[in-house]
Amino acid sequence: MKIDGELLKKRKENLAKAIEYHGHLCLGQILGVHIAETGLKAIGTIDTKKIIVYVEIDRCLADAIQIITGTRLGRRSMKLVNYGKMAATFINTETGDAYRVWVSGKIKEIMGTESIEKYKDENHYEKLLEVPSEEIVSIQKVIVNIPKEEMPGKPLRTVFCVNCNEKIFDGKEIPGEKGPLCKACSDKPYYIVGENN
Ligand SMILES: [Zn+2]
Ligand SMILES: [Zn+2]
Repeated sequence: MKIDGELLKKRKENLAKAIEYHGHLCLGQILGVHIAETGLKAIGTIDTKKIIVYVEIDRCLADAIQIITGTRLGRRSMKLVNYGKMAATFINTETGDAYRVWVSGKIKEIMGTESIEKYKDENHYEKLLEVPSEEIVSIQKVIVNIPKEEMPGKPLRTVFCVNCNEKIFDGKEIPGEKGPLCKACSDKPYYIVGENN
């Protein structure tokens, strides 16, 4: 089954935008086009002010989804929940509708290989654009309760860490005996202070 010319044209435009941002053509860009198209269609809006996307991986396809949906990490409209999976959940914040879209196992049949990593033929990448999305991705209606601290817009509160005196946004502080602590002061930070030798 093939898709109609209008849709293919739109997909090619989306792919071009994704490649420009991401820096190369790769399978992640193609799959990102399919995921974004399916997700946006399901939530029924392309208005970036009404969209929140939870992406489940910080690899290639996250860039494609970001560019095509217009969501941004820095605008709180894109969130990373790193499951290491080729999937994303699309939420219409006006209606509350949410759909999770993921690359289904069916793709192995289309690609004729068990290993997506081995699928490096760029000519085949383009052919994947012509496949109906439902042959590549699956979709399910879900419910996402977004905490109010995670919503876009002005921060609900900011506090200063009583230990390091750095500002903490969006309720990320941990209550301490002497007052709020940032996560780095409360737990072990991901860095060690010092110089490389
Ligand atoms: Zn890539
Ligand atoms: Zn601190």
